[in-house]
Amino acid sequence: MTRTVVIVAVASAAVACAATAYLVSMRIRNRKYWNRSLAILQEFQSECTTSLFRLRQVVDAMTVEMHAGLASEGGSKLKMLLTYVDNLPTGDEEGLYYALDLGGTNFRVLRVQLGGPEGRVLRQEYEEVSIPSHLMVGSNEDLFDYIALELSRFVESEGENYHPKPGRDRELGFTFSFPVKQTSINSGYLIKWTKGFAIPDGVGKDVVQALHDAMKRRGLAMRVTALVNDTVGALAGARYWNEDVMVAVILGTGTNACYVERAEAITKYHGESPRSGSMVINMEWGNFWSSHLPRTIYDEDLDAESLNPGEQGFEKMVSGMYLGDIVRRVLLKMAEDSFLFGTEVPANLYKPNILRTPDISKMHQDESADLREVAKVLKSILGVSSTPLKVRMLVVELCDLVAERGARLAAAGIVGILKKIGRDGSCLSNRSKCDQGEGRHTTIAMDGGLYEHYPKFRKYLQETVAHLLGEEIAANVSVELSKDGSGIGAALLAASHSQYVNT
Ligand code: ADP
Ligand code: MG
Repeated sequence: MTRTVVIVAVASAAVACAATAYLVSMRIRNRKYWNRSLAILQEFQSECTTSLFRLRQVVDAMTVEMHAGLASEGGSKLKMLLTYVDNLPTGDEEGLYYALDLGGTNFRVLRVQLGGPEGRVLRQEYEEVSIPSHLMVGSNEDLFDYIALELSRFVESEGENYHPKPGRDRELGFTFSFPVKQTSINSGYLIKWTKGFAIPDGVGKDVVQALHDAMKRRGLAMRVTALVNDTVGALAGARYWNEDVMVAVILGTGTNACYVERAEAITKYHGESPRSGSMVINMEWGNFWSSHLPRTIYDEDLDAESLNPGEQGFEKMVSGMYLGDIVRRVLLKMAEDSFLFGTEVPANLYKPNILRTPDISKMHQDESADLREVAKVLKSILGVSSTPLKVRMLVVELCDLVAERGARLAAAGIVGILKKIGRDGSCLSNRSKCDQGEGRHTTIAMDGGLYEHYPKFRKYLQETVAHLLGEEIAANVSVELSKDGSGIGAALLAASHSQYVNT
């Protein structure tokens, strides 16, 4: 062997040894980092656990807060707003009614011809109109003039098969999904604009009055007989078909619930007694809070960086606007602390709300063996390609934890309401408490994109309601999707609160 050959051989042996040592150390390091990711997941899991024991505490807290919110103004984080809806539709309503739904950048106008108990909804039609952006930040008068203009156009297009009663004004239910302090079934003043609206001279004004004034300027003879929010509309829309409906829950971008309460239970009620001895209460449950809610550091950060820190605590753990961002926050922690997506943290992972709830539902429900959908979402949203299968599995597990917690908390909220109205079976041990509903069937009407389009979320929610209630009681309770009831619901409330109905 020549000298050079020997040197080369020794050198290459050394390189090979070093390379092996490097690979071994990388593997050990990779395993260490992987274990770190798993540890972050486990820690998150244990902090957001929703054992039945803990959920029962949430159920009780919901009931307690409902009592407090009903007893006095500001008595609870639950506002428990009076809606003045004391006459839910029964199916007997007859005639032509309109509805207007304003709650975002579009509004909907709708008309329905009701045919009483036999005919029911004879026909209906609606139109969607978008609001020019300059009107969302202009003057109150300009906004309502525009709405009245579009409404009068819609009324003009009324066909022969719709029958307004001669000599009567047309009547309208107004779904207005902004914070309102209601003063009667058809009056209420705006507390503040949200969702991109900023019209300073509208705040503090009666929104029904503003609409009436604009309709008058247009020469449109129409009366608003019911002012409601989308949750109350959903309750009315479902109740029209099914008198067992006592509760409505919206699970969409945000979340809210309303239910039918006995008049005697509403001690802060100062007006005349409700006609039917009961009234719908708008809980504004997105703002519910209890120390029993399983909150993690990720929830705290999300809240601190949100537009409304300290508010809507329940909503931030449950609703579609937030679930995706909770997942993103945990993934970011894993990427930073343990290189889950490689040595560099994907830049998009730093962007709030980049991972949306529909994305996590897509990943969560990926049934393919190699988790193809997960890979696709990670690629398209975070720009990470070729993730190992175990990383994809971990992502799915994380989506599952976040969705499961949200769904189970919503279920506990629902059971809290059932408990408040004596339909959770707890009265069975004390018969005198069973006055309202023992043995009666109760239906909870659900609406909103999160509930509708996320089957695993829906399943967790339904199962948890049943677990919390127990088999016997659960047989008398159903949770049912009631799609888009809120539009027609407002028209039905315009009918049941008609100024021409004898009270
Ligand atoms: P909104 O609550 O804005 O009135 P929707 O009731 O239609 O409107 O709900 C829309 C919300 O539903 C979205 O913001 C999203 O969070 C959620 N969502 C929509 N599609 C899905 C989906 N496929 N999976 C999970 N959540 C979804
Ligand atoms: Mg909605």
